[in-house]
Amino acid sequence: MAKSKSVKASDPDENIKTKESETAGRIAAHVSMSSAETEETEISIEKKLIALYSLQQIDSQIDKIKIIRGELPLEVEDLEDEIVGLQTRIDNYIQEIQSLNTSIKEKENQIKDSLAQIKRYEEQQNNVRNNREYDSLSKEIEFQNLEIALAQKRIKEFAHHLNLKNEEVSAAQNIMNERKNDLEIKKAELSDIVKETEKEEVALKKKSGEFQRMIEDRLITAYTRIRENARNGLAVVSVERDACGGCFSAIPPQRQLDIRMHKKIIVCEYCGRILVDHGLAESVTP
Ligand SMILES: [Zn+2]
Repeated sequence: MAKSKSVKASDPDENIKTKESETAGRIAAHVSMSSAETEETEISIEKKLIALYSLQQIDSQIDKIKIIRGELPLEVEDLEDEIVGLQTRIDNYIQEIQSLNTSIKEKENQIKDSLAQIKRYEEQQNNVRNNREYDSLSKEIEFQNLEIALAQKRIKEFAHHLNLKNEEVSAAQNIMNERKNDLEIKKAELSDIVKETEKEEVALKKKSGEFQRMIEDRLITAYTRIRENARNGLAVVSVERDACGGCFSAIPPQRQLDIRMHKKIIVCEYCGRILVDHGLAESVTP
């Protein structure tokens, strides 16, 4: 037993020694590696969260520029449409006016013809051979006078319509001038805003692109999808007063702790927005 013990004692001793140093080395290596790995993951998740929150801030600024500009292009478009509509209306009125003028001219010519006829009939009356011929010519004259009266009545009616149309044309023209004025103002406003914000927008878009490249495609896809579905364009929100900054649903303490750990990307259970803690948000917000 003693022999075996001593043998055994000597053997394991060496064994243990080597094993100990080996294990220690391995453990040390493992610890250092795993701690490096963990740190790396933590940093990268934290970096991703910072990048996501920064990206959100930049994209929200771009949204704001678009909102300011947003209504003006539409207003300009509406005015342009209205002006085209008014011009069509005026063109139609002018055509109607032209045809009324033609009708009046026709009636005036008709009256001239009737007067000429009457003059001829009156001359003929001086050379009649009997009463019957005279009466017959008188009837023709009476008929032509009736024709003249009818033509004059028509001319009056046409003139009345002509006045109405002329009034409508000048009313439409007044509105059109106003709209054209408005259009010039809105166009100038729009070009000012575009000029003012263009540089800022280009710079923001460049920055947005830079942050997007820092984040993996899968996350960017999710971010874009959430943003599109959210009314306010917010895909990344911070926890404010124990609630989601996007939908204001309460977040349990344990989940808030997880969010603060920056160990994984956590989304709101209710609205699906990516959540960051207040501290991280503060560090990003200028
Ligand atoms: Zn939410």
